[in-house]
Amino acid sequence: MSIILKGISFNYGNKKNFSNLDLEIPDLRCVVITGKCGSGKTTLAKLIAGILELKSGEIMFHSKYKGRPKIGYIFQNPDDQFIQLSIEKEIAFNLENDGIEMVEMEKIVTDQLKKYGFSNRRKDSPNSLSGGEKQKLALAGMLVSNPEILIMDEPTSFLDIVDRVEFYENIRKLQKEGLSIIWISHEEDEIYLSDYVIELENFQVKFSGERDEYICGRLK
Ligand code: ADP
Repeated sequence: MSIILKGISFNYGNKKNFSNLDLEIPDLRCVVITGKCGSGKTTLAKLIAGILELKSGEIMFHSKYKGRPKIGYIFQNPDDQFIQLSIEKEIAFNLENDGIEMVEMEKIVTDQLKKYGFSNRRKDSPNSLSGGEKQKLALAGMLVSNPEILIMDEPTSFLDIVDRVEFYENIRKLQKEGLSIIWISHEEDEIYLSDYVIELENFQVKFSGERDEYICGRLK
């Protein structure tokens, strides 16, 4: 799955943000978008996900599938993610738009709850979960509908070290399964988990290339 952004422009109100930006994200498994706070990382991710609308320009997806790929988006704060009253409904939510039959859907939800360790708490509110569990539920809810691209905005910022390690393991597993991951991070060590790095500065691309090239550049 490669993504081509052609001459994209976007602004919040009358502030100038992205202006005629070109960017090509090659067909790689895991891309990190990095850069200082306020550099435009979340805005770029939301434009790719279609959450924000371009003012002009085009975003093209090249994959073996036709049309716009299915994109899962995980917000920085898991509390912004959840809109349902129970864990099971949160997982079912993303399936409801897929037109899956009720009986089939119940089976898929039950399997997903089991896979992510939520079987005993399926009726509980997502608010009853710890930070790490919320992150896991956000992942379970997004992945249940088999997106081709998963975009995550600083997914580890609310996690302690134990939950972070578990999260990194999950990411490695997903990478191996063939999911394309776009991940916003400004943690230096998290860049090592990626194949490709995009660094933004003031809504412009400061670097776009292979991870090793990025790291070598930083060491110079
Ligand atoms: P980053 O993810 O790199 O921290 P963002 O894309 O979230 O950067 O935001 C970059 C800048 O865009 C912010 O500093 C702010 O000036 C502006 N911005 C972001 N979201 C909004 C919004 N909803 N309304 C107005 N301005 C915004």
